[in-house]
Amino acid sequence: AGAGAGGGGTRFDLEKETELRFEVEAGEKVQLELLTGLAEVFGSELNRNKKYTFPPGSKIAVFTWQGCSVSLSGKTEVAYVSKDTPMLLYLNTHAALEQMRRQAERDNERGPRVMVVGPTDVGKSTVCRLLLSYAVRLGRRPTLVELDVGQSGVSVPGTMSALCIERPADVEEGYSVQAPLVYHFGSTTPGTNIKLYNKLTSCLAEVFSQRCEVNRKASVGGCIINTCGWVKGSGYQALVHCASAFEVDVVLVLDQERLYNELKRDLPHFVRVVLLPKSGGVVERSKDCRREARDDKIREYFYGFRGVSFYPHAFDVRFSDVRIYKIGAPSIPDSCLPLGMSQDDTQLKLVPVTPGRDLTHHVLSVSCADEGEEVAGGVRRGLLESPVCGFIVVTNVDTQGQVMTVLSPAPRPLPRHTLLIMDIRFIDLK
Ligand code: ADP
Repeated sequence: AGAGAGGGGTRFDLEKETELRFEVEAGEKVQLELLTGLAEVFGSELNRNKKYTFPPGSKIAVFTWQGCSVSLSGKTEVAYVSKDTPMLLYLNTHAALEQMRRQAERDNERGPRVMVVGPTDVGKSTVCRLLLSYAVRLGRRPTLVELDVGQSGVSVPGTMSALCIERPADVEEGYSVQAPLVYHFGSTTPGTNIKLYNKLTSCLAEVFSQRCEVNRKASVGGCIINTCGWVKGSGYQALVHCASAFEVDVVLVLDQERLYNELKRDLPHFVRVVLLPKSGGVVERSKDCRREARDDKIREYFYGFRGVSFYPHAFDVRFSDVRIYKIGAPSIPDSCLPLGMSQDDTQLKLVPVTPGRDLTHHVLSVSCADEGEEVAGGVRRGLLESPVCGFIVVTNVDTQGQVMTVLSPAPRPLPRHTLLIMDIRFIDLK
């Protein structure tokens, strides 16, 4: 870091339409303060003379439309000012969407439904956040639909969710999450169970459409759908499926011309497919980096986020008090399937899990499904389509005593007794 200024930090003077990009070093924190002018972080405005703290590994851009000066203190891996950003294009995209909302309001129609696609690390989540923040700043109430099961901005990994956005994302903490609608997927890549992935996409689309019918503001606000970076084969088919399930009006393709051309070819002609460049600031994240981000997200769920600490509970749950299922039986060759059963059925099948030592560290979703619902022919559709009300982690399994110890955000007893097992594991080091 260079010479100190503005309360011991390094001062950066930014011209209009430029951004300061920085990455926080591992094991360090960085404080940011806006000294003069106006600036925003991914669409959320900074307050003057407030210190914002970013944890290790954060990759941040402070953008200014008018010019500003900021100070940074703490150890950064990199910190530089860039004049070359696609922000003007992103702002124009927002303006076009806002135009559509105005028209929807006037003509009593529904607002834009937007799907953001592209390979991994092109800034999809960031573009979603930007568009949502700009929309709420104009008083809109757009919905974020999070289909990225690897890096969810809304809930723990392995979930698919929808969240009505009522205020810009918090500069430090992201979306303030009040009552998102969350479904259990169970793994960090759609490929693990593409049938389930598509089914849950349809579920979310249905619930969103129902909400739009009764809530005019939600309807006009429209939705921004964040998708996975898997854009080939079944991953591509899942995007096409999503476009049709949500009846999207606009698809924003980040950085990949091939994907843009394929979607233009395969989606109905009235869908506007737009190619946008990625920002040079987007940082590629390693596998380890992604795994860490997932771990952080789960830890946050149980322990809170810096300012707000949660105190999770540990207690024993008797095997006889819960039912644990895994969704999807291992696939078997078509020729071996029982008569009248298709491969779909096996992917959507609920397989009862007998608790054993190997359950240790797994994340389990607590389903909101009504108790006592019967398993009809092994395919309990009601359960797949039920949202989840929370998550627990198995910290110990005592097969002798027929009990398992769990980490839970709330004290005992569990609110519901139907649990769905994730592939995802979390090792609680606290
Ligand atoms: P994707 O959703 O396509 O995987 P993200 O939107 O999550 O990509 O962006 C990847 C990383 O890059 C995130 O950590 C994000 O904070 C960072 N990032 C995005 N845009 C910028 C930028 N302009 N400058 C610096 N970092 C950025």
